[in-house]
Amino acid sequence: MKTLRVIAAVVMIALLGGSASAAADVASKSGIRVVSAGHQIQYPDRLVFHLEAEADATITEIRLFYTLGGRSVQTYGYPDFTPGRRVASDFSIRTSGASYIPTGVDVEYYYRITDADRNTLETARSSFEYRDPRYRWNKLTRGDLTVLWHDISRRRVERLTADVVERLEEVKSVFGLGEVEPMKAVIVNSRREARSAFPFPSEAARRGHFFAGFAFSEYSLFVMQGLSADTMVHEAAHLLLDQAVDSPLARVPAWLNEGLAMQFEDGAIAYSAAVRSAARANRLLKLNHMGSVPGESRDISVFYGQAWSIVDYMMDNYGPERMGALLAALDSGERFDQAFQTAYGFTPDDLERAWRAGLLGASVAPPRPGPAIQAAASESDVRSRVPDSPPAVSDLRDDSESRIPDSPPAAGAPLPASPPGPSVVGTAAFISGTAAVAMVVVLWRWIWQRLHRPTPENGVHET
Ligand SMILES: [Zn+2]
Repeated sequence: MKTLRVIAAVVMIALLGGSASAAADVASKSGIRVVSAGHQIQYPDRLVFHLEAEADATITEIRLFYTLGGRSVQTYGYPDFTPGRRVASDFSIRTSGASYIPTGVDVEYYYRITDADRNTLETARSSFEYRDPRYRWNKLTRGDLTVLWHDISRRRVERLTADVVERLEEVKSVFGLGEVEPMKAVIVNSRREARSAFPFPSEAARRGHFFAGFAFSEYSLFVMQGLSADTMVHEAAHLLLDQAVDSPLARVPAWLNEGLAMQFEDGAIAYSAAVRSAARANRLLKLNHMGSVPGESRDISVFYGQAWSIVDYMMDNYGPERMGALLAALDSGERFDQAFQTAYGFTPDDLERAWRAGLLGASVAPPRPGPAIQAAASESDVRSRVPDSPPAVSDLRDDSESRIPDSPPAAGAPLPASPPGPSVVGTAAFISGTAAVAMVVVLWRWIWQRLHRPTPENGVHET
């Protein structure tokens, strides 16, 4: 849901700061006066801005400038009005359909009014939060997270938020994040309410699949249905992943994005039986077809289960350090296959083969990792690379109802045990380079390379 909306008669321009004090001077001399100004939220379809103004000369132009969600771009549009010494205008911004804007977004706006004598008046900035005006909304902030809700007890929301904020520390640690951009969560209470709050229906939704939440990185905001800590952690993890891998060159496949978000859910383990069952029925998706979330409803549950299962396998067998190295390599602009090789020392195909075999109960050891994690590519290397695939970050997540598998875990088909792989030394993203650490790293790599020759790249080993 990262599409930038095209609004008729609206042009994107770079935000120019520092005009507020100049505006006050102009206002006092311009002879232009605002009679009344305001806005109305016609939820969920549009925002309407009203203005009445008068001037000593004929008012010839009105521009409405606005920014959404504190972003660094400002948009302007021209409200319709009949030129005169006293004018009234309305201007609408669509917020649904192809022009969807998520609820919870902060809107800031002001006008620039010009008359026939070229006097201008720039009005003071006004702001509001775009949300359904039928409800009385509450708000709290804990750590990096602000939560917006209605008709749920504050105590329940406080408890849940405290739990989530604590769990997000682990997410930040795995993603290599210290300070993070503040995030906002909007909780809606029913499917009916979610239908208005969520983006226009996807093909999947039309076919009966329902998502539990949507994350919008450009606004650092997510909208979710129901008071669920797992959903909140999942959506926040998407936003944090986007912060961790924020290079414009970076491409994170949807299976990795979703699998990582699910990795921090307490309830994701419930997928394991469904994934094994899909493996036995030969219904698993090919990993290299999982760059985006599928449109078919029946594939979506398999996709999410599989995404979780593969990432869980990676985390179980190779730990968070190599996952961190993969994210760092992606952020440096490496294509996925290359980044994977950099972090793990074998290919995604190797991973997929061993993971599938394990699901089917074969006694297959996970591919052996490379001897040590290499540092991320240098900046000059990054600049010369051009990604070959479109952005694949998904903001979708599965509906919690459809995530609950209908059978208990199959017995006797355990995933392969963790390998006794070498200790992994961190990348620059994880270990600040003190001399002592560097010495240990160099020594350890030297010892490791002495003891072990590099593993063949197709490292699936029958045991
Ligand atoms: Zn998701």
